[in-house]
Amino acid sequence: MRIYGPQMILSLRLITRIAGFFPRCPGCGGIARPNILMFDDWEWNDRRFARQQRKMGDWLERAGRLVVMELGAGTAVPSVRMMGARTKAPMIRINPGEPAVSHPESIGLAVTVLEGVLGIQQALLEANA
Ligand SMILES: [Zn+2]
Repeated sequence: MRIYGPQMILSLRLITRIAGFFPRCPGCGGIARPNILMFDDWEWNDRRFARQQRKMGDWLERAGRLVVMELGAGTAVPSVRMMGARTKAPMIRINPGEPAVSHPESIGLAVTVLEGVLGIQQALLEANA
């Protein structure tokens, strides 16, 4: 068994105290959690996500001509990239390290999101001047 010094015991007390302030579920009193899917997460409630997926599918059917703006999504966890690619719409990909695009009408900007969005804003202002 490992023996912890006073500093670790203080840290554990602090963590326990902070844990007492976690928001609680009004239904069952359990500790509330963010509604995001994490790796190896078997307790995620996907009802809201499924509803959002249906609404987005309906919206995509009505959207007409579409352009996807993808901001800073990398290839390490590609779910955001896959979502944009599924639309088959042209894309503006802003990513300083992974700007490559495959759709012939898409463009990749190898800049930060702030630089990219400000640059697009400036281009739109100049085009409408
Ligand atoms: Zn609950």
